[in-house]
Amino acid sequence: MNREESLYDKNLTCLYCGHKFKSKQVLSRKAIVSKKDEDMCHYYEGENPYFYDAFVCPNCGFAFTSSFKKLNKIAMEELEDKYLNKIEIPQNLGGPRDIKQAEKSYKLALLCGTITKQKDLALAQICLRIAWLNRYQENKEEENRFLENALKLYTKAYETENLDANPANRDLILYLIGELNGRLGNIEETRKWFSIIIGNRQSDKAILNLTRERWLDYKYEQAT
Ligand SMILES: [Zn+2]
Repeated sequence: MNREESLYDKNLTCLYCGHKFKSKQVLSRKAIVSKKDEDMCHYYEGENPYFYDAFVCPNCGFAFTSSFKKLNKIAMEELEDKYLNKIEIPQNLGGPRDIKQAEKSYKLALLCGTITKQKDLALAQICLRIAWLNRYQENKEEENRFLENALKLYTKAYETENLDANPANRDLILYLIGELNGRLGNIEETRKWFSIIIGNRQSDKAILNLTRERWLDYKYEQAT
């Protein structure tokens, strides 16, 4: 299948310089899931939508995701000082991407997001994606490094941001904190975080079921 047939152009406006540009996205009907890991990492036949969720402005080099908030003056100055004045602007990231280009786009977005103080949740999502891209490449060390970063950011977000406006999303974050701890070998932490979901009558039903099943896996793994 021609790669271009699975992709379309998304119109974007750079949050820093206002430049209008296009970046590829995968058509939802062409995104075919072949399997899913317990931390929600999907595997796709054909084009992978994860490759395309970080956008890099070809005019100034600023990289961002759809979760980024507007930049204030301080953030812009910090960005100029620590990033824009130092980089060579990548020109080849708006078209079809390979896994290395995808990883590069996310790493630039992580850098820009850290400098401009984006929300912990936005940064956590980027770290989790970078971990998954490394999982696809069987690079366990980098995968774990970014899982740890994602875990720290999700935990901080849970502890410092009010996530109650969207209970399903809050419960998903709780689940991910438990699951990422489990993947990194901190089973006691998994128990602690999963029990928050299991102990709350208001928990999202789908996530509650997932959590119960997953906890059985961990118990079984520990027993064998
Ligand atoms: Zn720009």
